[in-house]
Amino acid sequence: MRRPFIYHRASATFAGLLMVIVACVTRGAAAQEFGGREKLRAHSAEFRREVIKVTNGVWVAVGFSDANSVLIEGDGGSIVVDTTSDVEDAKDVKAEFAKLSTAPVRAIIYTHAHPDHTGGAGVFAGNDRPEILAHRLFVDRVPDVGRNGRDGGDQFGSTLPDALFINAGTGLQFGRRPAPTAYLPPTRTFTGDRLDLTIAGVRLQLLHTPGETRENIAVWLPDRRVLLAGDDFYKSFPALYAIRGARLRPIDQWIASLGLMIDLGAEYLVPGHTRPVLGSANVRAALTTYRDGIKSVLDQTLEGMRKGERPDELVQHVTLPPALAGSPYLQEFYGTVAWSVRAIYADYAGWFDGNPTKLFPLPERDRATRVIELAGGREQVLSRARRALTDKDLQWAAELADYVLAIDEGNVEAKRLKATALSELGERQISAIARNYYLSAAQYLLRDLPAR
Ligand SMILES: [Zn+2]
Repeated sequence: MRRPFIYHRASATFAGLLMVIVACVTRGAAAQEFGGREKLRAHSAEFRREVIKVTNGVWVAVGFSDANSVLIEGDGGSIVVDTTSDVEDAKDVKAEFAKLSTAPVRAIIYTHAHPDHTGGAGVFAGNDRPEILAHRLFVDRVPDVGRNGRDGGDQFGSTLPDALFINAGTGLQFGRRPAPTAYLPPTRTFTGDRLDLTIAGVRLQLLHTPGETRENIAVWLPDRRVLLAGDDFYKSFPALYAIRGARLRPIDQWIASLGLMIDLGAEYLVPGHTRPVLGSANVRAALTTYRDGIKSVLDQTLEGMRKGERPDELVQHVTLPPALAGSPYLQEFYGTVAWSVRAIYADYAGWFDGNPTKLFPLPERDRATRVIELAGGREQVLSRARRALTDKDLQWAAELADYVLAIDEGNVEAKRLKATALSELGERQISAIARNYYLSAAQYLLRDLPAR
């Protein structure tokens, strides 16, 4: 996605100088991209397994599962917020929580419906028959359709070998250790903005805060100044759009929800994933940075769209402003700015980028047939793809392989070339889900191929 560089009447010297500059810039970028992988590796420390005391009577289990699970102790009873992914993870957390409180579980609260928060409910409930609380939209939501997997990878990298897997971006892993689930449906839901409750003597406010999901609720404990944010906040640039295939996230509502959370003035902030933020100044700074980061990407994208810029142009210049780009809360370990820009474009203007050539485009196979003929045939295209791989022009190598695969989906050489390009692209990502997606798609391409 480089901008085309156009120049006229350039001297040979200038051209030579240009090539040196391009080579330096490319090498610099590559080094930076590899640095991103090491940062992603270091980010795994965020998920080290620990039950962290947030404040009196509130603990969060981090690193036991993909998502966090929270224990709130009341008088003669306790409350569990989010329940991990499955029975095995939930058993591990429950054993830790049992060291802190043996009181029966009076309520389980789901911040939202993603399976990494709901799969272990039955384990926590045991024989305690707790109330199970969620927003009404938890029940009424439209399930994600996802992708059929024909071309795609798996953003969680659930089948990648250990040697290739680093983490899941917001958790250590999701789906790599299949285990039974024990989901329990909500027994009580609420509509509107807010539900006030007292459970086991603990005052709670459930606040409808749409963001990563439309049904997300934040749990606010006014007496203990603790805010459980669900998945509207975690230590990574957020997944404003999920490449696994999901509806666009309601970005403007997400921004408003973060504003509401900032105004609570919490002293303790417990995210749905990653470690808690302690101290009111730190909480305010973290939430404000997060809100401002999302808002900046939204505002820049809309401004560019008003000037008539297309998604491919927007992603070349929309970035976090320097004051936010270095924030530990906005590193692209999970979501990315570029995907967000494309999602915002699609949300506000739809799939059409304004160029009438694209109103009724040639079918993929038809275009590939013509491009390959233009290029001098299939062998020529594959040979250029091999050269692109050697030059580390990886995106181009993958695109060339795609032309051949569009007319011959079983072409072994094109599959191998594309798989190599995707593997190398995967190794250059800071986003765990980009990495996992590339590497798993490469794995699928190589499946069932004859040995060389
Ligand atoms: Zn989650």
